[in-house]
Amino acid sequence: MFKKIIVNKFGGGILAKKYIPLIEKRLRQQIKTGYAPIAVVSALPGITDELLLFSKKRELAGQSIKLFISRLFKKHLKIMAEIGVSDKWFNQAKIEWEEILRGLEKDLNIVRHSGLTNILEDKIAAYGEKMSVIFLAGLLNDKGLSAEKFFAEEIPVITDDNFKNAGIKYQIYEKNIRKKLPVLNELPVIAGFTGKTAKGQTTVLGRGGTDTTACFLAAALRADKVILWKDVGGVLSADPKIVPEAKTIPYISYQEAEESGKVIQEKAIQYVKMFNTPLEIVSLTKPENKTKVGAATRKKSGAKIVSFKRNLTLFIINEEKIKMNDLLSMACQIFAKHKVEIILISNARYILQIVADNENGLVDKVFKELKNKVAAIKAFKVNMVFLVGSFNVNDVNDFNNLLIKHKTGLEISAFLYENCARIEAIIKSDKIENIIRVLYKKFIK
Ligand code: ASP
Ligand code: MG
Repeated sequence: MFKKIIVNKFGGGILAKKYIPLIEKRLRQQIKTGYAPIAVVSALPGITDELLLFSKKRELAGQSIKLFISRLFKKHLKIMAEIGVSDKWFNQAKIEWEEILRGLEKDLNIVRHSGLTNILEDKIAAYGEKMSVIFLAGLLNDKGLSAEKFFAEEIPVITDDNFKNAGIKYQIYEKNIRKKLPVLNELPVIAGFTGKTAKGQTTVLGRGGTDTTACFLAAALRADKVILWKDVGGVLSADPKIVPEAKTIPYISYQEAEESGKVIQEKAIQYVKMFNTPLEIVSLTKPENKTKVGAATRKKSGAKIVSFKRNLTLFIINEEKIKMNDLLSMACQIFAKHKVEIILISNARYILQIVADNENGLVDKVFKELKNKVAAIKAFKVNMVFLVGSFNVNDVNDFNNLLIKHKTGLEISAFLYENCARIEAIIKSDKIENIIRVLYKKFIK
């Protein structure tokens, strides 16, 4: 029989000395009140970036690999030592890390000799979570919480082979997970962000993917709740570095969470939606600061979040025969070929506008290929500003008018659609901070 389960996600930012006692405390509280907690962890802060950056270095040398590995090792040892773990668990973690790092060294040497492939990149990126699972399981064991560590490949979290941004195959593997974690006498500590293909190759779920692991496990185990623990207070109405008076939003719908962009990895929400699992985003230091995410309520309309996305590219094609020549589908194929994500399309008789995210750096290639097919094309950098909430036609008009009034270089204005949870505009202006403050003042009450 399953006990009532709470899946807890601990991101890299809170795997730090000042937060560890609180992690322990929250888990103990859950056990005391009759729950079976599960911990899902990300890599320690910055580690995924370091792994990815290093693996992409042009000239890897045996010596620099050894140095990189030893730095990684020392970083982990240092934080464990700072926290003050008993010799027994300290040495245990040391032995396990050494083994993991031998694997990493081997893989980096393969990269050195044969170059980096997508398969190797994911395998390398996944080491950070393996290291941190050993870290947290060791710490919790030292505190007497009897934790058991699991790499995602051991569960197994099975994914497709879309490396760098793999999708979990939910339907098939739900059963395996229920078999693997049946009684929960121990406290499972599970590696987030990672999985493996049916062929056994390690994959990663895209940056920020630990959220997705946590929500996926919650669905597969029919958990009572998922908590994403944060060092900040839940979901805020704006970036507090830009809007100091930004506040914690008490409740948002699944759809609003998906639209918010930064709060939680987008892919995660589909899993909590499956069984209406309550999701909470909670401050570890002040748990009364939290945002609940659940089914939509019809209570309030208007904006809850003001946000933005920088560094997008707007492609503009001016041609009389856009529709006749089927330019849109031709263009989409080129974007798809280079895996450049299209964010927005606006298609009129003489003008086709496509906004793309240059996350994988291949926008230039797309441009070149398009230019070969149509002469009248230009591309330039733009930004997106958006509101999340529930909107009507007046909101949309106010939003567009405000952007025009403040000379933001509005390129594509917002429009309304059914059950609209997000209105967004593409602007040329770089003065995002000012615009966000103006929007906040107008829309967030
Ligand atoms: N460590 C991974 C990343 O930095 C996964 C995560 O943080 O959720 O993207
Ligand atoms: Mg991370």
